[in-house]
Amino acid sequence: MSSPVDITLEATGSITAIIGLGANMPSNFGSPLETLSEAMKRLKAKYSEIACSSFYQTEAVDCAPGTADFINVVVALKLNLQSSASELLLYLQELEKNFGRVDSDSENAPRPLDLDILWFGNQQVSAPGLTIPHPRATRRRFVMEPLAEIAPNLIVTGESKTALALLESLPLLPAVSRLS
Ligand code: ADP
Ligand code: MG
Repeated sequence: MSSPVDITLEATGSITAIIGLGANMPSNFGSPLETLSEAMKRLKAKYSEIACSSFYQTEAVDCAPGTADFINVVVALKLNLQSSASELLLYLQELEKNFGRVDSDSENAPRPLDLDILWFGNQQVSAPGLTIPHPRATRRRFVMEPLAEIAPNLIVTGESKTALALLESLPLLPAVSRLS
């Protein structure tokens, strides 16, 4: 985890991308915590990291009864101005596959690694297979709690309140608890 910093999505000379990582079953690399730590290491090797949250344990949302809890973490990365969101998505999908994720017919099936682009600068993308900002991000406590930890004052695309204020307006359930 890193201390709160003043993250802005509108940086000059670079693009700030905020990525949500989640896992709720072992990958071919190890447990969800091991998987997420390794995935973050690989992201940091490719992009420069601005901040990363603690790990959070989250009750599975909109999943079949008995679905294992998720471990979630949010990272802010700095990308060069030439980067595109679709390129980043391809890299994230390749990482998901490296950790053993297979395409599943059922939505919200357990997964060894889920990587979502939550925000990509202030860009808004609405294309087949890519929507940015991630349409469910600000409604999800497992996104907003880690985000408010690393960037409480951040105002994300399309919102007028800070990340912390948005978090405070969310219901407490499904429960999210900080692990580290
Ligand atoms: P979720 O992460 O909402 O649970 P899934 O990971 O099961 O959903 O969905 C994967 C699909 O979502 C992929 O086919 C991908 O193309 C699409 N997608 C759309 N927008 C995004 C985004 N911002 N980040 C990651 N995947 C996205
Ligand atoms: Mg996803």
